[in-house]
Amino acid sequence: MNFKKVSIIIPVYNEEKTLNNIVESVKKVVLPDNLEKEIILVDDFSKDKTREMLKKITDCKFFLHEINKGKGAALRTGFSNATGDIIIIQDADLEYDPKEYSKLLTPILEDKADVVYGSRFMGESAHRVLLFWHFLGNKVLTNVSNMFTNLNLTDMETCYKVFTKEVLNEILPKLKSDRFGFEPEFTARVSKLKKRIYEVGISYYGRTYEEGKKISWKDGIAAFWHIIKFNIFD
Ligand code: UDP
Ligand code: MG
Repeated sequence: MNFKKVSIIIPVYNEEKTLNNIVESVKKVVLPDNLEKEIILVDDFSKDKTREMLKKITDCKFFLHEINKGKGAALRTGFSNATGDIIIIQDADLEYDPKEYSKLLTPILEDKADVVYGSRFMGESAHRVLLFWHFLGNKVLTNVSNMFTNLNLTDMETCYKVFTKEVLNEILPKLKSDRFGFEPEFTARVSKLKKRIYEVGISYYGRTYEEGKKISWKDGIAAFWHIIKFNIFD
């Protein structure tokens, strides 16, 4: 395989506290194999200073939503404008560290994988100790998703999903979830493609709701429905 460029898609909603930091750390990362970087920011109609800040950022492409649509919709906007051979999803908070790109990309660059998930529940990297019920919710959702997909993932809800342009091209026309249903939907669709899926352990610098986390217990309940919907009916 001859991979030349990586597209990093960053959905952004009310992230004035972390936006500049995350963009700087994404810019700083040196990718393996001299891969070129394309950074795509999608502002999902932020109401804080995010939008003004975005316009001052250089060397990135950005797209603006005119209403708040959710993470899944922001990702679709980013995906349709991506020109890279490999896609990385990056949240705009500082929960996930771009220094791990190299680790995430390796199985694809070595032609062992088409899709790589970065798992917060594997390996020896640092994990912030935080939110037990949230952790349990993640484990239950991952396991229910696994029952339908027959994959043995340890972290279905992770932000770090990395995949080739071929995988994106097959999945993008089908993607529907506007909000956090994206994670179970993507997983269900990928499982049906019979592609090579890998997991690597990543660190996790989780944040609290006071620090800006947006996913709520309602999204957790909705995720069960998304798992059933996208694995059985769609
Ligand atoms: N996000 C978005 N639109 C929304 C809600 C969230 O684009 O309506 C973005 C948000 O800015 C972040 C990512 O989606 O970059 C994940 O959101 P969050 O960190 O709150 O979720 P969690 O980490 O809990 O999954
Ligand atoms: Mg987050």
